[in-house]
Amino acid sequence: MASSSSSAAAKILVPRRAHGEIHVIIGPMFAGKTTALLRRITSESDGGRKVAMIKSSKDNRYAVDSVVTHDGLKFPCWALSDLSSFNLRLGHEAYDSIDVIGIDEAQFFDDLYDFCCTAADRDGKIVVVAGLDGDYLRKRFGSVLDVVPLADTVTKLTARCELCGKRAFFTFRKTSETRTELVAGADVYMPVCREHYISGQVVMDAARSVAKLPDVVVASSPTSVLESHKVHEVAAPVM
Ligand SMILES: [Zn+2]
Repeated sequence: MASSSSSAAAKILVPRRAHGEIHVIIGPMFAGKTTALLRRITSESDGGRKVAMIKSSKDNRYAVDSVVTHDGLKFPCWALSDLSSFNLRLGHEAYDSIDVIGIDEAQFFDDLYDFCCTAADRDGKIVVVAGLDGDYLRKRFGSVLDVVPLADTVTKLTARCELCGKRAFFTFRKTSETRTELVAGADVYMPVCREHYISGQVVMDAARSVAKLPDVVVASSPTSVLESHKVHEVAAPVM
């Protein structure tokens, strides 16, 4: 007969091998997150570890079966709609043999937390997660921030502001499209510093107000449109 203590212990995940690790790489678009991920995965592979790369099937900007950086670096990958299917698609034996799992565009995976927990805690994998921490409104994007409490390390990368060349922390959307998930590149998004995020957002909001106003008001000076617009939307911090 099982005692209450042993049944409680049975619920704890038993590691199959040495402890795994979780490393998280975040930042705005064009910050080199995928490049940093590929560099890490390549060096693990060069060091003799067996690696696998996963990306979201929602992101087919460059290739379906490869992770490709903005500057053309390439690595074969599994394009999946969810992470829970990875083990099945790969086969249990192949999954067991893998040491390191890279996940690109991780904000698109709803089951990121559970997958990372199982892979690192139970299965002893090293998981390297790269993704956007915030969306174009600087609000949390998907579940990348959820895995921060699980992580060994968190690296926030920065890009270069497209308008002034200073360090860029945010992704600015140049169009009036308001869907959170709009997979696109430099035609729609640009990295910006804080100053240009705020001024750009004011201009975008003003342009939207102008588009909604009747003709007689559009004819008034653009300054009055800018001044009349509230900027409360841009003041919310990510965390
Ligand atoms: Zn700037």
